[in-house]
Amino acid sequence: MQNWLNVSDLHDFSIHNLPFGVVNRDGLSSPCIAIGDHIIDLRRASEIGILDSLPFDHTVFQNPLLNPFIETGKSNWRALRNFVQEALCDTKSALHQHKDVCLVNRLTATMELPIHIGDYTDFYSSIEHATNVGKMFRDPANALLPNWKHIPVGYHGRASSIVVSGTDIKRPNGQTLPPEATQPIFGPSKRVDFELEMAFVVGKPTTLGDTIPVADAEDHIFGMTVFNDWSARDMQKWEYVPLGPFLAKNFASTVSPWIVTMEALEPFRCASVKQEPAVLPYLQYDGDKNFDINLEVDLTPESSAATTISKSNFKYMYWNMAQQLAHHTVNGCNVNVGDMMASGTISGKDENSYGSMLELCWGGKKDIPLNNGDTRKFILDGDTITMRAFCDDGKRRVGFGESVGKIIG
Ligand code: MN
Repeated sequence: MQNWLNVSDLHDFSIHNLPFGVVNRDGLSSPCIAIGDHIIDLRRASEIGILDSLPFDHTVFQNPLLNPFIETGKSNWRALRNFVQEALCDTKSALHQHKDVCLVNRLTATMELPIHIGDYTDFYSSIEHATNVGKMFRDPANALLPNWKHIPVGYHGRASSIVVSGTDIKRPNGQTLPPEATQPIFGPSKRVDFELEMAFVVGKPTTLGDTIPVADAEDHIFGMTVFNDWSARDMQKWEYVPLGPFLAKNFASTVSPWIVTMEALEPFRCASVKQEPAVLPYLQYDGDKNFDINLEVDLTPESSAATTISKSNFKYMYWNMAQQLAHHTVNGCNVNVGDMMASGTISGKDENSYGSMLELCWGGKKDIPLNNGDTRKFILDGDTITMRAFCDDGKRRVGFGESVGKIIG
């Protein structure tokens, strides 16, 4: 699509994308949209009056977070998207006229966590991941637990420790039970890992007691981001019985600064894998509910080059987002704008597509080779994990930016 910034349709931040974020400009946090190597500062655009034709109160952009804008509703998300696409294609637009005050260089910008996340839920929806973990931790012959194909299994995580890309992550201390030991010890985790996930952001709230039918679920989703659910495998193994993950997971999760809207993802819809046996009626759905999103993970040792250690795809998910949200609310649990719900580790069938080092090194049995001649089983101090996600159908590209985090001692 021809635009006056000459951003290619195959750029991660093409005019077909227009993801939302919050940029820090001279200490002021401003909602914004990415286009190519630029950012449109929506606070500034609102202040100088170029958003006056929009059908909602654009002073929502004079907040430091996206929540007030998201709360205005889906028809306004679409109105803004159409307005920005048209303005970028018209050299007579007010945005073009005021581009010097509204545009920021994205490549040097400081980005912030763009939403207030009230609650965070993590699912466990990749059958390959659940099977691999079941084989390693339990019984190779019966890797999936009996409930797995009936329930989109999940747990309530910790929203307070979700950080924006670029934040260093301190290696967590905790209890572990070393192999062959009978008593636990305390100290730094020796098995810090990543989990390659995508997360969606709730865009429409419900009231306590309400449910979201699977057919309406997508109306409650604003957009998606790349999500690294950092994990301490040695702590997890000792603590997870019987109530599930706790300190092995809640020390940090890292998100990309950009939220890609469901509207931008629409061309990349695809079929989900067939669910066998059939799920209960409240989880049954029609149409294509999955999305073809390429995923990559790099590990970069301190002062060294990156190695891409995993290539996966969001389309491998067994349970889709509509089912996750329907299940989450079927008991009357309410959701709020800004709630974040992560997919669970996204692994594919082949070994290069596993979404965690636990699987890539098969529980510590194999070395993961790096380009600099080193090997890894788990993450060492100084290692940086970079996750990327992008859709590309050859005609247009929609990227999610990066989730970057370095483990420090
Ligand atoms: Mn996870």
